[in-house]
Amino acid sequence: MSQNPEAARLARARLPEGLRPETLAVRTALAPSQHGENSEGLFLSTSFVQPDAQTSARRFAEMEDFTYGRTSNPTVRSLEARLAGMEGAEAAVATATGMSAILLLGMGLLKAGDHVVCSRSVFGSTISLFGKEFAKFGVTTSFVSQTDLAEWRAAITPSTRLLFAETPTNPLTDVCDIAALADIAHEAGALLTVDNTFCSPALQRPLALGADLVMHAGTKYLDGQGRVMAGALCGERKLIVDVFGPTLRTAGMTLSPFNAWVVLKGLETLALRMKAQSEATLAVARWLEQHPAVARVYYPGLASHPQHELAMRQQSGMGGAVVSFDVRADGPDAARAAAFRVIDETRVLSIATNLGDTKSIITHPATTSHGRLSEAQRQAAGIGQGMVRLAVGLEHVDDITDDLQRGLGPLA
Ligand SMILES: *Cc1c(COP(=O)(O)O)cnc(C)c1O
Repeated sequence: MSQNPEAARLARARLPEGLRPETLAVRTALAPSQHGENSEGLFLSTSFVQPDAQTSARRFAEMEDFTYGRTSNPTVRSLEARLAGMEGAEAAVATATGMSAILLLGMGLLKAGDHVVCSRSVFGSTISLFGKEFAKFGVTTSFVSQTDLAEWRAAITPSTRLLFAETPTNPLTDVCDIAALADIAHEAGALLTVDNTFCSPALQRPLALGADLVMHAGTKYLDGQGRVMAGALCGERKLIVDVFGPTLRTAGMTLSPFNAWVVLKGLETLALRMKAQSEATLAVARWLEQHPAVARVYYPGLASHPQHELAMRQQSGMGGAVVSFDVRADGPDAARAAAFRVIDETRVLSIATNLGDTKSIITHPATTSHGRLSEAQRQAAGIGQGMVRLAVGLEHVDDITDDLQRGLGPLA
């Protein structure tokens, strides 16, 4: 923070205590430069000039202030401070992608012989990172049911160091009980990390429910406009600064300042976007639920969702912006043809495999995100050939349902 009182006053760098998350999302940042810029500066510089050799020596020894771009950058630091404020965390560390945040989590926390318990419904690359990559270094992972707490409890061993969950899941939107998982982790002397990508802090704050760490793919809703890759871990200072800080500085999964700046600005509109996109998704989900060509809708905001009440409690009464549905068809071949027809008839929605964009995205999970699973594994996971996933953006709801109706109408 700047010691310059004029700069501090210009940017309101000394914010009062107790500000709400919406305010922190707009106001939290490092003090501005001497120019008093109102929008946070983008510092594209790999190195930072030191006033003298003595100061340089101290900064390198104590890792304070700014020295070299792999270790810290003012724009990245502003993003970390803002995201930490929004998650109710003491600190945050930003990373190059969502996956590199999980890489940092594993490298910083785990060693050979350690054991992890992870939901089997988490993001596909997360399964590979724990199940394959960390396994090379002697870290074992048990994959368990998203919703059956007894399975989590039964998987705990004396070596369990970490529980990892993501809620709601993709594409089935299964919700897990964060507070209950935190209790299971803490009884075992382990830490609970929650991947909060789908809800973002605008809807869900896992730390307040007892989780120890929050992980983000900033690539999704935090940027929110489909522009840059980013990731983060949020939690107690002693974990973020003392455990993950040194690992990040050595291993270099550092976030680029440009990407940090884009996400920093994205956070300013996060709460508005999440609310608007959640409301639109609920409207689309209700429309799908009454459609004769649709067999089933998966959305936590619907009363028909198996964990609806838990989701509403945990997610500020909102369902988020991802909805999936099964088209009605007999057998996998007909189901795939029907799902492809719905996707191919759209003229507004983007056919892509991403989410968290202002542009709505339509996806066929069975041949994209879950395409590498065997048909038996997919059946076990409940992801059929007739499933379509929709990540709802900011277009008018009626234009989204009209676009779906082009393909669904003839199937009814
Ligand atoms: C996209 C995503 C990730 C990975 O993030 P990247 O930025 O693509 O590395 C992790 N978890 C969830 C839930 C995601 O949607």
